[in-house]
Amino acid sequence: MITASGRISPKLEARECQRKGGYGVYAREYLQKGELLIVWGGEIITRDEFQKLKTEKEFVSLQIEEDFYLISYSKGRAEDCVNHSCNPNAGLQGQIILTALRDILPDEEICYDYAMSDGSNYDEFECRCGASACRKIITGSDWRLPELWTRYEGYFSPYLQRRIRHLQQEVMQTNKNRQAGESRAYLAVDSRCVESVSNGFFSTTHRLMRKQS
Ligand SMILES: [Zn+2]
Repeated sequence: MITASGRISPKLEARECQRKGGYGVYAREYLQKGELLIVWGGEIITRDEFQKLKTEKEFVSLQIEEDFYLISYSKGRAEDCVNHSCNPNAGLQGQIILTALRDILPDEEICYDYAMSDGSNYDEFECRCGASACRKIITGSDWRLPELWTRYEGYFSPYLQRRIRHLQQEVMQTNKNRQAGESRAYLAVDSRCVESVSNGFFSTTHRLMRKQS
């Protein structure tokens, strides 16, 4: 029989986590930064299939591409119990692999920031992770936050990494255009200033500006 289940490191286990209303994944022993924690498994379905399924069955889901989701129907599998944190100790490597962002001590809960995987609004919720930088509301647009681009560089799902690159290029282009616009405006003021001088007027502001130029 073919199973679509994932794999979890023997150094991890699921434990009940009342605070988060269910289960969480915890380290049984010390883990090093970069160590492979989990490979998620399941069935791959399209966005349309995902929308229909939502009303019919209970499942665990992970967005892995613009229009594809990984779905697991198996209940109680440890690898499907990873909770979100706004201050995570794990990150994505590719679409379905979770690795340690830093060294992890025994009994620490394994969490990753869902902004690393989610690019649509299929799993939005109020966060009570307790991190000082907690975003309080987790949405499918959190990947757009520039502070996360630096913090999680190399740990976003590949489709989000592509989106971020496009956004960064757009921001750079906007800044270039703005700078070019400001230079043109400055030149316009300066030429007005020259005209004023030739007309016998010369305001303090203009004089200061000319000194700086
Ligand atoms: Zn939080």
